[in-house]
Amino acid sequence: PTADVATPRRTQDIIRKHGFTLKKSLGQNFLTDLNILNKIASAAKLDDTKGVLEIGPGIGALTQQLAKAAGKVVAVEIDGRLLPILEETLQPYPHATVVHGDVLKLDLDELWARHFAGCSGVSVVANLPYYVTTPIMMKLLEQKLPLEYIVVMIQREVAERMAAKPGGKEYGSLSIAVQYYAEPDVVAIVPPTVFIPQPNVDSAVIRLKLRQTPAVHVEDEALFFEVVHACFAQRRKTLSNNLLAGLFDKASKPAMESILAECGIDPVRRGETLGIDEYARLANAILAYRK
Ligand code: SAM
Repeated sequence: PTADVATPRRTQDIIRKHGFTLKKSLGQNFLTDLNILNKIASAAKLDDTKGVLEIGPGIGALTQQLAKAAGKVVAVEIDGRLLPILEETLQPYPHATVVHGDVLKLDLDELWARHFAGCSGVSVVANLPYYVTTPIMMKLLEQKLPLEYIVVMIQREVAERMAAKPGGKEYGSLSIAVQYYAEPDVVAIVPPTVFIPQPNVDSAVIRLKLRQTPAVHVEDEALFFEVVHACFAQRRKTLSNNLLAGLFDKASKPAMESILAECGIDPVRRGETLGIDEYARLANAILAYRK
């Protein structure tokens, strides 16, 4: 079997041998620490009945560890120059398949049907390219794929926003979007030193346990997220001012005030103090008013 890719030495050797040049624009920061890789892989609670979708395998450092733990691994890589390298590092693992493409453009339902039909559960596990973290996460969550966990390395600051509770400055529309679909927990904080090349920021491994049903009942999801965005549009403004700027015109100010009163929400509060349940109540009441 080929040796683990994940040491600084092996990673440098592989890059040099193939004459590979890292592309910053594709978020190519490769992990070179086996302990971190194992922490990521074990957070997804894999066994040989489980499937894994990996996004951005790079030279295969994480893919190898996932292939040791899971029954099926599908790794989507946008950079065609990495395919011959992956072929080499994944040679001992025939149940690991590389798909060449942009995960944001890929038909994931089709990928599921093709690769994961026989699996008892599927998780996404990845060291994500940081320039597209949020679009990738939102695609995975909004598409309502049958997922168990999403375990990803992302920027520490983004992980903290995803996991934030009401009241602090990290709490915002991203927190609510993520927590609507999943229960987050930050598994590890990771320094830049374990990557080649080193990113400029701290990283974190976050695990999302997908909910069977969303955290709150909303009648109209699009309106719910619209209300959330409106209430965070200007963080220093009150709820009432943000709602007037985004969702109600001046003439309907009395209606807005009675909706807030009916929901038991003080109009001078700030968006960052409302829990997800309060946003659901507010969105449902606005929908009822509009009908
Ligand atoms: N998994 C490897 C590791 O941990 O060492 C590499 C992680 S690196 C942070 C991100 C990888 O995602 C790169 O290999 C990059 O080429 C790939 N990538 C970037 N954008 C992508 C996209 N839109 N779809 C699929 N892969 C992408």
